[in-house]
Amino acid sequence: MGEKIKIGVSRCLLGDKVRYDGGDKQDPFITDILSSYIEWVPVCPEVEYGLGVPREAMHLEGNPADPRLITIHTKIDHTDRMKVWVRNRCINLEKENLCGFIFKSGSPSCGMEGVEVYGDEGESLGTGAGLFAQEFKACFPFLPVEDEERLHDPLVREIFMDRIFW
Ligand code: SF4
Repeated sequence: MGEKIKIGVSRCLLGDKVRYDGGDKQDPFITDILSSYIEWVPVCPEVEYGLGVPREAMHLEGNPADPRLITIHTKIDHTDRMKVWVRNRCINLEKENLCGFIFKSGSPSCGMEGVEVYGDEGESLGTGAGLFAQEFKACFPFLPVEDEERLHDPLVREIFMDRIFW
């Protein structure tokens, strides 16, 4: 087999225990099947940004088109510092020559779409993208991106595979 192509991936999907609760979200399609063909470039925005494991869970609040990243109970607002971090991380990723990215669905950092955005009272205001995924898509508008949930659909999976190996 020739040289493997490089794909970015939310690190918890590889089985690394980096989630806020100390767990992982290993996805067998990613670790058992795709790993034969792909060199992973793992990114965990929350850990690399400096938050520990375990850590307080965060969610998105405010304007769904430009949401804020807030810890759920203590209401610490990480938005501005995280935006600086994600910008620098995306510049750094340009050197990797990635052929695509697989994001963790539903995450306020990694979710590429459909992440719940809340108001002050915990009411739903709509959905948006996690801060890292949003910046990544802006920096690499032509790269194929998916999340692990969508990749469970055979058609989505086939289209993604065609695009990354094209
Ligand atoms: S979803 Fe993203 S930020 Fe959360 S644990 Fe996984 S890689 Fe880290």
